[in-house]
Amino acid sequence: MQNTQIEKAIAWNPWHGCKKISQGCKNCFVFNMDKRYGRDTNIITKGKTTYELKDSKCPPNSLIKLCFSSDFFIEDADEWRDGCWDFIRRRKDCIFVLTTKRPERIKDCVPSDWGEGWENVYMSVSIENQEMADIRLKHFLEAPVKHREVFCSPLIGPISIGKYLDTGLIKCVNVGGEMAPKKDVRPIEYEWVKNLYLEAKERNIEFYFHQSGSMFLRDGKNIGKWKLKEQIECAEEIQKELENSF
Ligand code: SF4
Repeated sequence: MQNTQIEKAIAWNPWHGCKKISQGCKNCFVFNMDKRYGRDTNIITKGKTTYELKDSKCPPNSLIKLCFSSDFFIEDADEWRDGCWDFIRRRKDCIFVLTTKRPERIKDCVPSDWGEGWENVYMSVSIENQEMADIRLKHFLEAPVKHREVFCSPLIGPISIGKYLDTGLIKCVNVGGEMAPKKDVRPIEYEWVKNLYLEAKERNIEFYFHQSGSMFLRDGKNIGKWKLKEQIECAEEIQKELENSF
């Protein structure tokens, strides 16, 4: 997504907690974070202080990313979602970004005046391997969404999504590796990233490799990094290299 006019980036977590639904969830950071505090992530709770977002915190042209510590379309939040839609409907001067692993629920969870989607809402579906790409992208493309992005993260296997990109309905492809302790982390491979880059480039679709992950294999060697900052730098270097090579 192009963010040249964004004044402020804001994280909005109206509820907390989630349930693991596929391999991509195995090392979910929300579960890892909650474990440290003895909290049960499987219990979804409405945020006492975070459910309502104050207008005063959102200047015009804010970029508001929802549900870092949950999934916006999780069943347990069905009673609470309308309050979020009310805010999103009213603040057409801001951009809202929703990421989900449950795109099959989108059509039943949008408000009655949603139509084909609101101009100020970007939705992103998260996929980790070919199986999930084929299941989730089918639902995602059928759902009424104005701006669609794909998040191949954590990428744990080779994916080809060319036929989904050919629909012209996906505006951006993001790719990232997994950040997890050595004993648990699953590798991402350079060739997988390159193939997704080429699939996006051939169709003139935006592409971002945003994070190398803790184990990034290139020519059989792990060039992944431990710290997030280093993972971002590593991914930026690879992206530049791809842009210069192809
Ligand atoms: S859907 Fe997202 S937030 Fe929920 S368990 Fe999976 S990775 Fe974690």
